[in-house]
Amino acid sequence: MAGVLFIVSGPSGVGKGTLVKKLVNDNPSLALSVSCTTRAPRKGEKHGREYFFLTREEFENRLACGDFLESDEHFGNYYGTLKSFVKERLREKSVVLEIDVVGALNVKRDYYPAYFPSVVLIMVVPPDLETLEKRLSGRNSETEEERLGRLERVNYELSMQAEYDHVVVNDDLRKAYADLANIITEEIKKSERR
Ligand code: 5GP
Repeated sequence: MAGVLFIVSGPSGVGKGTLVKKLVNDNPSLALSVSCTTRAPRKGEKHGREYFFLTREEFENRLACGDFLESDEHFGNYYGTLKSFVKERLREKSVVLEIDVVGALNVKRDYYPAYFPSVVLIMVVPPDLETLEKRLSGRNSETEEERLGRLERVNYELSMQAEYDHVVVNDDLRKAYADLANIITEEIKKSERR
């Protein structure tokens, strides 16, 4: 297994998607894992690019076949990382998973270090909760109920910071990006020395 498995988590609306997308675009030695989900695509999202959008039945079949590295049900929908997708890409590159805290800790518990010797957990956090709330209400991509559910989850996610190897504060996007890129570079170097 050549690459490092980077797992990036953080509360909804914290900007981790933007950071991760730019990171992978700028860095040809990184691949972004495309997860499966049963939630409906948002405007502009494409099957196979942001997610593989599956029906509940399709997801449950793949779950029963043991196709997922980890999976979780939140906000009433399933989300899961495909084993095949990650394993294939790790042969040549480092892989970034953008998944929630539960999934991240499950991967670390179940696969590190026996299957993936280099797993690095990074959490992106907001500078404060008010900023996050503002970002979430500006999103308009979900119902009020969904938005409140996500906010409730924020506290839980932030409380798990201590389990992570690195925490990046997204106050200024450019600074957060530089911090994240630096962590990735250093961790890849570290794994090459092993
Ligand atoms: P969204 O619906 O906004 O795209 O994502 C909601 C949450 O699901 C985010 O916290 C995201 O990181 C998480 N998520 C996305 N893909 C996966 C996955 O494969 N596994 C798990 N456990 N969480 C995921």
